[in-house]
Amino acid sequence: MKFDYLIVGAGYAGAVIAERIASQLDKKVLIVDKRNHIGGNAYDYYNEHGLLIHKYGPHIFHTKSSKVWNYLSGFTSWLPYYHHVLAVIEGKKVPVPFNFNSIYQLFPANFAARLENLLLDKFSYGLKIPILKLMESNDSDLKFLAEYVYENVFKGYTMKQWGLKPEELDFSVTSRVPVYLSRDNRYFQDQYQGIPGRGYTEMFNRMLANDNIHIMLKTDYKDIVDDIKFNKMVYTGPVDFFFDNMHGELPYRSLSFDLKSYRKDQFQETAQVNYPNNHNYTRITEFRHFTDQKSDFTTVAYEYPEEYLPGNNDPYYPVPNDENHVRYEQYRKETEKLKDSVIFTGRLAEYKYYNMDEIVAVALMIFKNRIA
Ligand code: FAD
Ligand code: UDP
Repeated sequence: MKFDYLIVGAGYAGAVIAERIASQLDKKVLIVDKRNHIGGNAYDYYNEHGLLIHKYGPHIFHTKSSKVWNYLSGFTSWLPYYHHVLAVIEGKKVPVPFNFNSIYQLFPANFAARLENLLLDKFSYGLKIPILKLMESNDSDLKFLAEYVYENVFKGYTMKQWGLKPEELDFSVTSRVPVYLSRDNRYFQDQYQGIPGRGYTEMFNRMLANDNIHIMLKTDYKDIVDDIKFNKMVYTGPVDFFFDNMHGELPYRSLSFDLKSYRKDQFQETAQVNYPNNHNYTRITEFRHFTDQKSDFTTVAYEYPEEYLPGNNDPYYPVPNDENHVRYEQYRKETEKLKDSVIFTGRLAEYKYYNMDEIVAVALMIFKNRIA
């Protein structure tokens, strides 16, 4: 059988493009993934207690884009859910992004009020300030606050997560979790937020349920690529692997998860609690908060960052900094040479720290501009 497209990777990038080609162009697609499931890092499953578990860490869908939201809503209903995160600082659990509520929990009321007034004199309410920006403050109290937040919220967490200090990464990494001049304890403020009603995997099942789409799991594309007939490839795996590391290995960060189930209603107050300063894990996720499922048990995941070692674990995050962008740029030039036969997209192929909604938007754009 000849396929119009061979798509490597059944995560968001691969699945959205496969769905569009199959449903809009009525063309044949073979989608190959080396894992034993579809969904990429968004994959979830029901465990022995009937609880929906995000296998590769907490995934909360949030977007400002009505286009992305409406597209995915064609394949899923949504459970309303707003993510709340607490971080343990000096024994207290305070909201992150660090906000006025965090300040009042950690400091005596009169000093907290002084900090609040200072911040509101200088900036406007509702502003989000990256920690590395706040560190540039001249005022001595604001400088104290910035250093306190840097030391207690960012430094330890970032060292564990990346093996690097905040300033050794792109500004955009720690800017994802800014200091928020607000009383809003939600992690995200996007207009559209939720968890797929029957889970991410079921949403992917529906996207890929088309007679034009054939799925091959537990298969590294390099093992089959010479035996399959196809016109064009969409590649969403690590870009350095595609080119046999010709410009050296790109660093990625990996994770491991320690899952534990307890016979109790609730383990912690929110779905996610961060531990910037204690333990080897960065965060604990309690999955029942996402779905409000009833069970005698609750399941949590302790998340341990680790170095990516090809063949031993999976690449989860590109490591955004200047040095790695330079190396990636060498690979990007290689992808340019193949642009008529291979489309490179996704978090690993573009070496970009995409959220789910961002990669859906990119995949829809690629379909429109380069495929349809
Ligand atoms: P992936 O999901 O990584 O899919 C790539 C696929 O390619 C994989 O299934 C892989 O097995 C396959 N593949 C690779 N190499 C080969 C090969 N040689 N042969 C065959 N198949 C191959 N985003 C949010 O919006 N909200 C969140 O809360 C959120 N939380 C996250 C938490 C964690 C811990 C992580 C790691 C990510 C999180 N994300 C979140 C980001 C989200 O996971 C990504 O945006 C999304 O998965 C990217 O999709 P993708 O298709 O680019 O890549
Ligand atoms: N971060 C931190 N402390 C926190 C939360 C986040 O230092 O309590 C930093 C850390 O460098 C992290 C980055 O901000 O990698 C982005 O955090 P986010 O929650 O967006 O990470 P993700 O969910 O993508 O792993």
